[in-house]
Amino acid sequence: MPKDPFQREIDYLRISVIDRCNLRCVYCMPLRGLSFVPGPELLTCAEIVTVVKAAAGLGFRKVRLTGGEPTLRADLLDIVSGIAGVEGIGDVGMTTNALLLPEMASALVGAGLKRINIHIDSLHPERLKRVMRFGHLDAMLAGLQAAEAAGLRPIKINCVVVRDYNDPDVVEMARLTIEREWHVRFIELMPLGGGTCAQLSLSQFVPSAESRRRIEASLGPLTPLPGGHPSDESRNYRLDGARGVVGFISPVSEPYCGACNRMRLTADGKFHLCLLHDDELDVKKALRNGGGEDDVRRILLEAVSMKPTGHDLDKGVSTEVRSMFQIGG
Ligand code: SAM
Ligand code: SF4
Repeated sequence: MPKDPFQREIDYLRISVIDRCNLRCVYCMPLRGLSFVPGPELLTCAEIVTVVKAAAGLGFRKVRLTGGEPTLRADLLDIVSGIAGVEGIGDVGMTTNALLLPEMASALVGAGLKRINIHIDSLHPERLKRVMRFGHLDAMLAGLQAAEAAGLRPIKINCVVVRDYNDPDVVEMARLTIEREWHVRFIELMPLGGGTCAQLSLSQFVPSAESRRRIEASLGPLTPLPGGHPSDESRNYRLDGARGVVGFISPVSEPYCGACNRMRLTADGKFHLCLLHDDELDVKKALRNGGGEDDVRRILLEAVSMKPTGHDLDKGVSTEVRSMFQIGG
């Protein structure tokens, strides 16, 4: 398994398969001024599978697909089955806004998808629309149900907490875990890409401690859950008698860089070394110049050896080049 200079074992590849999305969450994508990677510049399914084979050969074990919105990629099923068939990859997951899952969930499971993270910021239909612009609560809940019916486990729900948009809704979201075995995780805003979404992410930031206090004031104590994999970015808790888990992902107030095990691949074929830095290495160029798995392995090892650690998010300093929808979270 490749180790970076900080002795972190890097075995988890997050692949953005497309930068387009059917939503425009206020902290992720602006309404205007967007430009997307043209189709021919996206890594093809075969190129993605070559990268995954190279990564598996180095010891990578987990892959997660993301976007933009991954379900908008027309050949997503081929991508999932191609990756699931790579020897050594035990785990293929996906992060999605769930809108298209009613049509796709069982086919995705058939193709080899194992886990799903579903992004829903509120259970209040109007507030959901305000924060996830064009989001439709009933359609997203139908997607969640489809994922569950298709057998995806565990179901993790991502809720990004945004002051004056959905911050009081953390209580109703956490309440879901009482009856369901779902993991509801509250995520602190990160200011990526330097534009209006980054500004909003700074001005509407809510620390996890505040969300936690709000939940405990209404629903009772949250008891910390022991164990967990060190690289799990979520600090996990349980409400008394609950079946599910409440988690807090706190990159700003409690950075977890020391336990990071991730490498990211952008839709346009760059190894992106850290969510919170702009450094990248081009792998598509090598593939399109006739390179194969060995070349990808060499570039990936170089990327791991250059992986930065630490960030200045608490001082408002972050990436300038890519926004969240161009990396995938
Ligand atoms: N469209 C899919 C979705 O929304 O889940 C996958 C891509 S999205 C970029 C991946 C995750 O990034 C989302 O689930 C959301 O929780 C998170 N996210 C997006 N913008 C964020 C921001 N500014 N700060 C923190 N998390 C963010
Ligand atoms: Fe789309 Fe996901 Fe970004 Fe929301 S967070 S705009 S659903 S890519």
